[in-house]
Amino acid sequence: CLVLGIESSCDETAAAVVAGDRRILSNVVLSQLDEHRPYGGVVPEIAARAHVSHLDGLIRQALAEAGVGLSDLAAIAATAGPGLIGGVIVGLTTAKALALGSGKPLIGVNHLEGHALTPRLVSEVGFPYLLLLVSGGHCQLLAVEGVGRYRRLGTTIDDAVGEAFDKTAKLLGLGYPGGPAVEKAAEAGDPARFALPRPMIGRPGCDFSFSGLKTAVRETLAGLSQPVSAQDKADLAASFQAVVGAVMVDRTRRALALMPAGTPLVVAGGVAANRHLRARLEVLAGESGSPFVAPPLRLCTDNAAMIAWAGVEHFRAGHTDALDIKPRARWPLDPVAAAAGAKA
Ligand code: ATP
Ligand code: MG
Ligand code: FE
Repeated sequence: CLVLGIESSCDETAAAVVAGDRRILSNVVLSQLDEHRPYGGVVPEIAARAHVSHLDGLIRQALAEAGVGLSDLAAIAATAGPGLIGGVIVGLTTAKALALGSGKPLIGVNHLEGHALTPRLVSEVGFPYLLLLVSGGHCQLLAVEGVGRYRRLGTTIDDAVGEAFDKTAKLLGLGYPGGPAVEKAAEAGDPARFALPRPMIGRPGCDFSFSGLKTAVRETLAGLSQPVSAQDKADLAASFQAVVGAVMVDRTRRALALMPAGTPLVVAGGVAANRHLRARLEVLAGESGSPFVAPPLRLCTDNAAMIAWAGVEHFRAGHTDALDIKPRARWPLDPVAAAAGAKA
C-alpha cells in the first residue's frame, strides 16, 4: 500500500510517499531555518505562514518524484499534533481536502508516534522495544508494545534535551539550530575540562532533568575570562555533550532493566542525530545484549516519511480517521502517565 505523509508541526514543511514494503518513494523536506534564524528560535506565526506558502508545491513534488497520483494511494496521513497549532492546522486541513477530493481515507498521525515508529521503517525491529525519544520538545523513555500502544517509563521533569542543546548553543553564541552546532563545536573540545553537574544520575526511576545543567553552563561561561575563546567554547560544548550522554546512558540502562532481557533499544527524534549519543547508546545496548536501532540522520529530524510510515502502520491495523478529526497542540503518547503528573 502507498501512503502520502504530510508534516507541518514545527519548522519543517514536508511531504513523502512511502510503500508498505518500507520503500521511501519520495521524501521532500523544506526547512524554514532561514526564516527563523534572525529570532534565534521558531516563531509560530512565521512558521504557519511558511507552511501555507510551501505545502502545496511540496506535495506535488513528492507525488511527482514517487511517480504516483492521488488515485494510486491507499491513504493520506498528516500530523494532527502535537506541535505549533497553526502549522498543524495547515497540514491537517490540506490532508482533509485531499482525502475529500480523492475519496481516500485520512489518517491523523501523532508526530511523536512518527518518530517512535521510524525504526520499523528502516529495520525489521518487532514489538516490544524500548524507545528513547529525544527531540526538540520531548525527552522520554517509552515501552513500545504495538502500534498505538506506548507505556511511558520516564520523562523530563523540566527541559527537553533538544531544548537543552539549543539553549546551550545560544549561551555559547554558536547560532541556531543549536544541536548540530554544539556537536560540531564539541569535536574540537575537551569533554573532561569542565566538571558540570550530572543531573539524575544514580537516582531511582527513569526521569530526566536538564535545567540545572543549562544553568551550570551559563555560570561556567560567566566565570571564564571574556571574551570567551573558541577553545573555551569547544571545551564547554564537549563537556555539556558528555554529560548529556552520561545521563542518557544511566537512565536508559535503568529502563532496559524493566524490559525483558534482549529487548531492542531504539533511539529516535532530532537529538538522535547526535553521533556522540548514538555511539554511547550503541555501547550500552551491546553490554545489555540488546539489538540497537538508530534511524539514519535525515529520518531522525522532522520529515514526512515518518508520518507516511505511521500512516501505513495504522492503515494496516484498520485505523483511519473521520474528516472532522481535530488538530491538537498537546497529545501525549501515553495519556495515562501524562495525566498522572510530569509534563507530556
Ligand atoms: P518534537 O518532535 O518534540 O515535537 P521537534 O519536532 O522540534 O520537537 P525534532 O525536529 O525532532 O524536534 O528535533 C529538533 C531538535 O533536535 C532540536 O532541538 C535540535 O537542536 C536537535 N538536534 C538536531 N540535530 C542534533 C544533533 N546533531 N545533536 C544534538 N541535537 C540535535
Ligand atoms: Mg525542526
Ligand atoms: Fe519532531
